[in-house]
Amino acid sequence: MYDLAIIGAGINGASVAYEFAKVGKKVVIFDMEGIANGGSGAAGAFIAPKFSKEGELKELLNDAFVYSMEFYEKKFPHLLKKTKLFHSATDAKSSKILAKYKEKTSLKLQVASETFLNTLTPYAKEYGYICIDAGVVNAKAMCSAMCKSARFVEQKVESIVYDEAYWVINEIYSAKNVLLATGAYESIIKEPYIKLSGVWGHRIDIETSSENPCSIHQDVSISPSFNGELAIGATHNVHYHPQKSTTPYDLQEGRAELLSKAGKTIKLKDIKVLRDFTGLRSGSYDYMPIVGGLVMSKETLASKNIRYEVESSNTQNYTYYPNLYMINGNGGYGFVLAPYIAKILSEHILEAKEISKRLSPNRFFTRWAKKLF
Ligand SMILES: Cc1cc2nc3c(=O)[nH]c(=O)nc-3n(C[C@H](O)[C@H](O)[C@H](O)COP(=O)(O)OP(=O)(O)OC[C@H]3O[C@@H](n4cnc5c(N)ncnc54)[C@H](O)[C@@H]3O)c2cc1C
Repeated sequence: MYDLAIIGAGINGASVAYEFAKVGKKVVIFDMEGIANGGSGAAGAFIAPKFSKEGELKELLNDAFVYSMEFYEKKFPHLLKKTKLFHSATDAKSSKILAKYKEKTSLKLQVASETFLNTLTPYAKEYGYICIDAGVVNAKAMCSAMCKSARFVEQKVESIVYDEAYWVINEIYSAKNVLLATGAYESIIKEPYIKLSGVWGHRIDIETSSENPCSIHQDVSISPSFNGELAIGATHNVHYHPQKSTTPYDLQEGRAELLSKAGKTIKLKDIKVLRDFTGLRSGSYDYMPIVGGLVMSKETLASKNIRYEVESSNTQNYTYYPNLYMINGNGGYGFVLAPYIAKILSEHILEAKEISKRLSPNRFFTRWAKKLF
């Protein structure tokens, strides 16, 4: 019997596996495609905050950025490349937002060297920029390292059934708790109030004779160069979906878009594309991640005492699946958010610490249920 069965070995599942194993819990983690072969395997895995105007998501991402940088540095220093991050505004509007961000941020501002600035195009500097300490992680190796103390099973989870005090997975494995960390893939538990979008992305590794010492973010992200290689990513292709589109994805078009966008920011010479990575980012409808226990919608709606029109609906009166949790919806910030939200979720499961309303899946249930009455 496992303490926790995790479905999905991307960065979200792997981060929770790490938290549980750290305190001696027995974990089994399932993935039908191996470790980090979904969205997490495609990621450039840049660790950066969100340089946007005030809001819940910016706040969360700033907290997560600070937490995760320290986490990766302490626990997996060999898989984190610490670099300066040079983030440029793209137009007059984002320039104003970035200027405000710089005024208010508690992050230490760094200075970009003249030599580095000379490798950039005029567009990279036209609307202003910010330079801070940040990093890039080795996405696949990080997920594997985090899963190391768990038992990994390469298998599609087809069924989970609750049998009085524990869950039975694929009719074989039993676990006290189950975590759905399935990214943009079809969820094994279908609840009408959980809706996730999957945005296709493409990144490339290239060979180049140009040296780049920093992470650069403008129309795309460009990693520092190492041994004559660097990564460029990623596209946001809302028109393509691997399960829904009728025509295949055009890799050449994606490469051309990435190279053209990178070329607007930095002068790269002698380019040869070495590798392509593609995958879906899973996002929630309010862009905040989804972390916590799942509401059983039918059972909760059957209860007569709950008034959904009241803003502070009594979420503790909802009926929840026993010991079933979800972690998902990280959008383009999976590697920034995962260590932070995995800690929140693990403390919730193991120590009954409350999860804030802005993260809990029950916020979507309340919104959905309100519309029914
Ligand atoms: C091109 C690209 C670039 C990106 N760049 C960055 C970046 O620079 N920085 C950053 O922080 N984030 C980045 N992201 C976002 C980040 O990759 C995602 O937010 C993150 O990967 C989400 O992780 P996840 O664990 O939720 O999902 P995934 O990594 O997709 O993992 C879900 C896993 O669940 C498995 N699964 C699903 N259903 C089942 C089942 N029934 N049985 C068994 N297994 C199942 C799948 O096989 C999959 O491996 C990028 C994403 C893309 C696509």
